Parts: sequence; C-alpha cells; structure tokens
Amino acid sequence: MVQGRVQRTIEIADFELPRGAISIADLMAMEQARWEHIRTEINLRRRADPTSPLARCRLCEGGIFIRAQLTAAGTYPVYAHFSGSPLDCPWYDGENLKPDDARAAQYNGHQESALHRWLCQTVEQVAKVDPRCSHSAIDTYLRPSIAERGRWPDVFLEMGALGAFALEIQLSKPFAPEIAARHLHYDREGVSLIWIFRDLASGAGADLPQGFRDVITMQRGNAFVFDADALAASIARNTLILNCYLETERGGYLKPRLVALDDLDTRSERSVFLEDRRTGRLLEYCTNGRAKWWEPFKQADPHKVRYPFNETCFGPAWDSIRAFVPELSEWKRHYREEKLENGEHHFLEIAAILFSIANSARLGRDRLHITRIQGEGALINMLNSKIGSARFGCYAVLAETMLSNTAAHDRLDRDSLRATFEQAKASHAQIEPRHPVWVAAKRLFPEVLDGPLRAELHDLGKLPQWAIGGPTPA
Ligand SMILES: [Zn+2]
Repeated sequence: MVQGRVQRTIEIADFELPRGAISIADLMAMEQARWEHIRTEINLRRRADPTSPLARCRLCEGGIFIRAQLTAAGTYPVYAHFSGSPLDCPWYDGENLKPDDARAAQYNGHQESALHRWLCQTVEQVAKVDPRCSHSAIDTYLRPSIAERGRWPDVFLEMGALGAFALEIQLSKPFAPEIAARHLHYDREGVSLIWIFRDLASGAGADLPQGFRDVITMQRGNAFVFDADALAASIARNTLILNCYLETERGGYLKPRLVALDDLDTRSERSVFLEDRRTGRLLEYCTNGRAKWWEPFKQADPHKVRYPFNETCFGPAWDSIRAFVPELSEWKRHYREEKLENGEHHFLEIAAILFSIANSARLGRDRLHITRIQGEGALINMLNSKIGSARFGCYAVLAETMLSNTAAHDRLDRDSLRATFEQAKASHAQIEPRHPVWVAAKRLFPEVLDGPLRAELHDLGKLPQWAIGGPTPA
C-alpha cells in the first residue's frame, strides 16, 4: 500500500464473529486461496441476505467486498464498498467527492469513534452468547432514572446471578470528575462498573496518562483490556473475556491474565477487580512498621521482668523504628542532655503505652505491655497513672488521639481518664505531630495516626476493626 491514503482504501474490515477485524495489511498478507475463500463467503451472504453483510467498513459500517486487483506483479486483494454504502465515508474508494484536506481533518476522529463503536458492538456480541446474559444494550439504559441524568454506559449487561455490569470502553483518557461521577452513580444503582481499555501500549506504569491511572486506582491496581487475545478467548469460551493487567509494586504490570466476569470481585463498593493490588500493600506497610516489636513484648513481659525496657531483646525494635524515623537519634541525644535519662528506654515505654492501647482495642479486653496490672479497667488505670505523671504528661494528646481512633475509644467516656487528660494538657506542653516521637508513633500505627493512609483504608472498606474509632470529637 505504498500509495496508502492517497488512493484511499478501506483499512479495516469488521467481519461477523468469529472472524472479527481484518486489516487490509492482514488481508494482503494472506495466501490467495484464503482470501479467495473469504471473498466467496462475502458474496454468498450478499446473495442470501443483502441486509446483513458478512463484512463491514469500520468507518461507515457499509457492506464491503474483496476486489481482486490485477497488477503486473500478480493478483492482490483490496476491500471495496458495495454499492449502497454511504458515499461520504472517508475510506470511500470511488469517485472523489470531497476535497482531500476535509477528509484528512475528519479522518482521525472518524477512526477513533468507529473503533469505539466496533469495540462496543463486539463486546456486547460476545457477552450475549453467554446464556446467563438476559439483557444487553449499547449506549442506552433501561432505567429512566439514569437516562434523565444523561448517563449511558457504553455497554450494559445483565448477567443473571453475576449481577448487572456497566462497561465503559475508553480509548482516550477519561477525566477525573467523570470517573468519580460514574463510580458513585453505578455504585448507587448496584451496577458493577468496569473500565475497559484497548491497550496499555500508549504508556506503561507511571507514563500512562493520569486519566488511565485514575481508573486503575479506582480498580485497585487492575487494568482491563479488550484486545485481540481477549476477543479470541471470548469467542472460544462463549462469554466475555478481558485481558487483566495487575500492577506491580514498581509501577509496571504483571503478564496479563485472561479473565471472565466470574473471576472478578464485585463485592466491594465502587470498584471491580481481579486482585486488590493496592490495599495489600497499604496493610503490609502498616504491619512492617511493627514487625520487630512482637517478640520483645512477648519475651520481656512485665509479668516476668520487673523493668522490661532494659532487656536486649528490645534492640531490634529500637533499631527498626530508628531506621524508619532517623530523627529519633537526635531526639535521644537531646533527651539525655535535658533529662539525664536514657531516651531509648523512654521511647520504649511510650511505645509500650501505645501498643497497650492498640492491643486492648484489637482483643476487646485490656492487655498491657507496660505494667503487671491486667484485667478489667487496667488500661484506664495505666493511662491515669502514666499520663498523669510528669514523665508522660506531654503525651496526653497523642494518647488521646490514639484512643479515639481505635475500638478502645469508649475509655474516653470515663470521667477519671478525661480528667487526667485535661490536667495533663493544662500542665504540660504537648508534643505535636511533627515531633520525632509522634512521627515514630505514626510509623508504628499508621492505621490510626496517618490521616491520608487511614482515609484511604477507610474508603476501601479495609480499615481494620481495631482501628475504627468513635465519633470524631468536635
Ligand atoms: Zn466505509
């Protein structure tokens, strides 16, 4: 096709499934016997039912045939419109009806919208073959409530027990407000929304335009693509199959997997995914911060050891938090100069107070890591005694925040504890969120103290039970 656009030819023909799209390049690469067979089939169909051609022009959807072009080099196939096709098709191969620049200007938009239409039709077609599909529609929606608001999914499917799906086939990058609006809308309607791309070749990972990344974020690190492999698999398995790209930690993607709608998790609000690639990473970040603490708390239990924080078993715990929050080293030096006390031990005691709150919240009963006292009321007694002391009075706001953001928040209703906190706040300057001890506490308990991370887990419905707090104090 050296002369390509100049001579104008139909570049893509859409055949009835299972053939699907065959580009002019693919056609010309075929052995003569194969395209001759297709040519014959087209003509047979034309003869039997002129209203439903076997192959259509991608741009105008008019019926097309294969013309055998005779040249000095031999015979080769080209596509041509049957008579009766729209004369204004940009790929119209006959008489030149429009100036060329006008055609060129139309061309890109035409091609993209034609590809979009073809994808919608093809996706619907392969889904409809599935016997569970009781209703399908392109660009329309039965419920008037949605039509009124002017929202139509590209493809809508009712798939029996699997539920209803809205499929948005996205060739150009979607815009953030539109993405959010659609997710909220379909969530309210009880419809599972899936965004489908044509490919990820336009950029991988961080290079992908933000609109695509926003969709992948909504889908928890999953990108769904309807490409040639997905189409072939859909035809073979008699149901809609998508190629699913799972995000990796480094921002790339795993080798794609062909998935059916049955494989997808549609239970969670707002997003459909094969595997939640985001939440796991967040939760892992949280537990990593505490990984070195469980062993020393077990070994140096206050029941067994009078003052646990001298024990060497806390070494790795201190090292790990100092690696996460390097400014703790400077703070420790400063603390010794000012208070003539070991800052490391002091920090271990604060950590033990916070772990006592977290574990009591998690277990639903008081469990302390800093004093021998256990059982009913132990957490309140410990906090009254520690936060009420001069050594820990400056941590009242930290302890209060920690309590109110966990399942142990009911302790804040106790008068004695409330009085302790008020008194401490009145008598001691409180450390602020920028303080190294607060930063370290946040790294130990991000679910509780790291606002954005806490909000993200909350939005995803994955905030751990123990970290669900009470009503936000006014
Ligand atoms: Zn056409």
